[in-house]
Amino acid sequence: MENKPWGLYETMIPTQIEDVLNSTPIAYIPWGALEYHSYHNPVGLDGIKAHGLCVDLAKEVGGVVLPPIYQAANLIKSYPGVDFKMHSIEFSEGLIRLTCQEYFQQLVETGFKVVVCLTGHAGEPHIDILKEVAKEFSEKYPHHRFWSLAEFDVLSDDLLVANHSALGETSLQLHYAPETVHQELLPKDREITLVEDGVAGQDPRLADATRGALIAETFVSNASKEIASLLKSVKDQ
Ligand SMILES: [Zn+2]
Repeated sequence: MENKPWGLYETMIPTQIEDVLNSTPIAYIPWGALEYHSYHNPVGLDGIKAHGLCVDLAKEVGGVVLPPIYQAANLIKSYPGVDFKMHSIEFSEGLIRLTCQEYFQQLVETGFKVVVCLTGHAGEPHIDILKEVAKEFSEKYPHHRFWSLAEFDVLSDDLLVANHSALGETSLQLHYAPETVHQELLPKDREITLVEDGVAGQDPRLADATRGALIAETFVSNASKEIASLLKSVKDQ
């Protein structure tokens, strides 16, 4: 396969961005959060995960990767029935919508034809807002393509489901930034729960980098096919 130009947007000079625009005019927005992720994971997990996956996609398909947006709504901080007020910075739903619209609008104006918004944070309606903005822009710009997704949208349930700092997220973090994970801080003598530990999903003590690599590889294989076909549909019109 020919080598597709790609880069980290904030590190690129105009001629490098124009090379990408001329061959694979795709922009990736990794959407993160600053959110409590239990004892063992960093508060920026969602953005680190989304950025890692977007870089892997860009290497496969081409395009530019924007810096992660550490701005999310609907965090565990305000989740009913649990008490995790610390270590999260939460933004309003209206601001999430506006931020997404302003990125999409200016990426179109600067020449990108396909915009992929990968959210590592799956709070609701945070994730629905990003999908609604993609739909709104698809109608506004029928010759462009906009795709907002979470990583589990293109993975089978046996590999990954939506989770909070559980088996799936902890494995991905061990794959992309193992030095930031402290599994030894998880309790050893009892079940891990949402109310006590702020973990939603399967047991994070079973997480490992091998599983994280498999999730990442499968995600890239599935999502890259979709993105390549979105780009082809833009070029064919
Ligand atoms: Zn998360």
